[in-house]
Amino acid sequence: MNHSEQLFNSAKQIIPGGVNSPVRAFNGVGGTPCFIKRAEGAYIYDADDKAYIDYVGSWGPMILGHNHPAILAAVIETAQNGLSFGAPTELEITMAEKVRELVPSMERIRMTSSGTEATMSAIRLARGYTGRDKILKFEGCYHGHADSLLVKAGSGALTMGVPNSPGIPADVAKHTLTVSFNNIDEVRQIFAKYKDEIACIIVEPVAGNMNCVLPVEGFLGGLREVCDEHKSVLIFDEVMTGFRIALGGAQAHYNIVPDLTTLGKVIGGGMPVGAFGGKKEIMDYIAPIGPVYHAGTLSGNPIAMAAGLAALNELSIGDKHEQLSASTEKLAMGLKAAAERNGVSLSINYAGAMFGFFFTDSPEPVTTFEQATACDTDKFRRFFHLMLENGIYLAPSAYEAGFLSMAHTDKEIELTLAAADKCFAQL
Ligand code: PMP
Repeated sequence: MNHSEQLFNSAKQIIPGGVNSPVRAFNGVGGTPCFIKRAEGAYIYDADDKAYIDYVGSWGPMILGHNHPAILAAVIETAQNGLSFGAPTELEITMAEKVRELVPSMERIRMTSSGTEATMSAIRLARGYTGRDKILKFEGCYHGHADSLLVKAGSGALTMGVPNSPGIPADVAKHTLTVSFNNIDEVRQIFAKYKDEIACIIVEPVAGNMNCVLPVEGFLGGLREVCDEHKSVLIFDEVMTGFRIALGGAQAHYNIVPDLTTLGKVIGGGMPVGAFGGKKEIMDYIAPIGPVYHAGTLSGNPIAMAAGLAALNELSIGDKHEQLSASTEKLAMGLKAAAERNGVSLSINYAGAMFGFFFTDSPEPVTTFEQATACDTDKFRRFFHLMLENGIYLAPSAYEAGFLSMAHTDKEIELTLAAADKCFAQL
């Protein structure tokens, strides 16, 4: 028994399923999760000191690579002054200003400690601002684990096959309308039916919780139009795509301006941070200046702000996204070629520093939830384990996107492609 197996056995005696967040348990692929001891650059090291090239990056935050010296230095320096005050600090202003500089649609910004809090609060704000109860989300999009948003959700909810979690009152879930991602006609139909009852649309502008699905031409622009027509709030959930698809997020890449944006992952540089923000007129509804309540003992925590700010500052130097996009393209094209060489049908989607591959015989690109979930998950499971044996750590589910970082140089990508070549041959 290796160390991860031993640790997993101990963990299961005290932590439900042995993990503090479900997808980590390898339920989607079977087997024992790797317990991680440390990480550096593009590599993570398990409890037996085996190294892996990491394409999870802590599920997104590690866009500069693990253990980045600038982030580490900021954390250590800030920690010397105390860990938390529960009172405002100058760092929070600097952080908010940096976020607004990079994402100008966020005229006003509130910090949270997770992506879930950011989306939950943005939804409450949209409801409070419009005085409407219904919200519209897309099947397979995941926006965290708040009650209203765990309806037909992606990520772990999809991997575990529990699209609607027990414990959510029907009276709450009934206000969440769901339609197909990339289907603007369905959106228009549902708005025609519910007229002016819909507070907001929340969408992952690039869906990263049903594998990786890009918006088709006109989809995001169509959502903007519908929200304008019906005075609904358009929320881009950029927890995953923020600072990753482009420095200004998916909204910069696709040139569509949402009313509210939610952020997480990269914004904390690895510390627990989220944020929501947007139009001043809407954000002014937040307490203490407005009636909609949002709070958090550790919101804007100094260590978290220092880590996040260091990450954003570092990411803003030079054109990092040019390198990130080029690396992602190299990986995607290489995987496709390796699959072809070995007679494996593979479809790949990618944007910025984010990618997803699908085992499917269909020649059409994957643009819908139906296509994403119709892919061969058994083949994914086998490929995942072969890659893991060969030192490549992919997300342990066919329904998660992969992430690259600045530390994924040509060397790591070539090693990954060599491993993939070998693994495709064994499928
Ligand atoms: N929104 C999106 C798009 C996400 O991908 C996630 C997490 N994967 C969340 C919200 C929730 O963030 P957190 O896990 O930090 O609560």
